[in-house]
Amino acid sequence: MDNINLKELDKKNIWHPFTPLKGGAEPVMITSAEGVYLHTDDGRKILDAVSSWWVNLHGHSNPYIAKAVSAQAGILEHVIFAGFTHEPAIQLSKNLLSILPANQSRIFFSDNGSTAVEVGLKMALQYWHNQGIEKKKIIAIDGAYHGDTFGSMSVGERGIFTNPFKSHLFETIFIPFPDTEHEEKTLQQFCELIEEGDVAAFIYEPLVQGAGGMRMYSPALLNELLTEAQAQDVICIADEVLTGFGRTGRYFASDYCSVKPDIMAVSKGITGGTMPLGVTTCSKKILNAYESDDFLKTFFHGHSYTANPIACAAANASFELLVSDDCQQSIQRIGNQHRTFASEMLDHPAVATVRSLGTFLALELKTDTRTSYENEIRKKIYPFFMERNVLLRPLGNIIYILPPYVITDEQLHKVYTVIREFLDSLQQ
Ligand SMILES: *Cc1c(COP(=O)(O)O)cnc(C)c1O
Repeated sequence: MDNINLKELDKKNIWHPFTPLKGGAEPVMITSAEGVYLHTDDGRKILDAVSSWWVNLHGHSNPYIAKAVSAQAGILEHVIFAGFTHEPAIQLSKNLLSILPANQSRIFFSDNGSTAVEVGLKMALQYWHNQGIEKKKIIAIDGAYHGDTFGSMSVGERGIFTNPFKSHLFETIFIPFPDTEHEEKTLQQFCELIEEGDVAAFIYEPLVQGAGGMRMYSPALLNELLTEAQAQDVICIADEVLTGFGRTGRYFASDYCSVKPDIMAVSKGITGGTMPLGVTTCSKKILNAYESDDFLKTFFHGHSYTANPIACAAANASFELLVSDDCQQSIQRIGNQHRTFASEMLDHPAVATVRSLGTFLALELKTDTRTSYENEIRKKIYPFFMERNVLLRPLGNIIYILPPYVITDEQLHKVYTVIREFLDSLQQ
């Protein structure tokens, strides 16, 4: 099929995510990708500065991962995971436990981030149910994003995306986002809530709220929240779907805290961005409530593609790349470059604040309070960068970079340069 026909068929047949069916821009056709570059049908090379929705770690079409995927597809493509097992999953469990916080002791597989969160919530609620203890309340943080399924929507910020489903979402208690000015207030509200003794779980994105605007908060404050939660026997669920696998400069954002979560959800970077895979992990404490001769205490949850061997093989290959000295040095290098650029941009008249942590860099642009202006900015940013062959997807007035770890300094500086150009253009 030629490209014109393909695009017509796309328009006729396909419903794209987060995309209006009317009035949206035509999707860009990608024919191949390599390293940080996406190749379009009309011969452009677009620098993927957001790792294709935050999943890609080692560059597109990474040959090492591709080889592992290809080999596994010819050996064992899939098998039911209830009552059966296979080496790629077992190897992956070993790999993950070697870098996860030491208290994590069991790996539960699924196939995306929302579901990994969903599984974490169910694990926590059934933990209490299995013990016959009445604890049902769940606490989350204002501005949270935990996914698009009903459970994960319920524990996330309510807004235009969740409005049509409002009446079907379960109740969640939200504490204020703990930015520097609100740390005391957040901690105090949290302590009051959990003192009542009926809180089942606390779910949080450790250190960085992604979709909520790349907002960051301090490890010391998170450590205090976790300390208080565990003193009141509240199950702590770290949603590391975004922050896992080196994104924050350490393997997991939870590594910045001395108190560890009871349950962790990971996905996005787990296969280096090659195959869909989700994982929920938990500590011995959680397992204790399930280790029983009573059949009814089983965790009755599973998906057709649970622990897909090809996805596990991709994750094992991605793991080997991640723990290599090369990759670890790249993560530190990107962090250093980000910090330098952040300090340069801090005084820019168009910039309200700059945040960086590990491979995350976010610039919050000044807007006046009129939302129409905010919309204007949002609409201007994306095409400005696309015209310059850089893929950046702003979150409102937030421009952020979250690159694959293989990005070179030169490529990184190209991204910085177009951001600077954009900010300067706002001054004219
Ligand atoms: C992306 C994301 C999710 C949802 O993951 P999907 O794979 O898109 O379902 C959940 N939590 C966080 C923090 C995320 O960034």
